[in-house]
Amino acid sequence: MGDPGYASTMMWSSDGTGSGLSVRLAAPLAERIAEVADQVQEWAIEDQLWRPARTNWPRCPAHPENHPLRASVDGSHGMWVCPLDWSVVTPIGGR
Ligand SMILES: [Zn+2]
Repeated sequence: MGDPGYASTMMWSSDGTGSGLSVRLAAPLAERIAEVADQVQEWAIEDQLWRPARTNWPRCPAHPENHPLRASVDGSHGMWVCPLDWSVVTPIGGR
């Protein structure tokens, strides 16, 4: 994006449309991880909106039909959490 304070890239869909992703380099690692996960999740969900696919990725194990997990920061780690009860489900990038 031309700002040396940010790392950025483009994510491309199979239909050729693209979406930019950027993260502030001075942010703590956990915040950068959560910010990237949030932007990838938003892109993945928007990419699926017009297709016959699920839009709740990653799926909340406690509420699989209701909502996706939310990228968040827990201490010094990027985590996927349930947006209803804020329980930590898994580290971002974990299984
Ligand atoms: Zn949930």
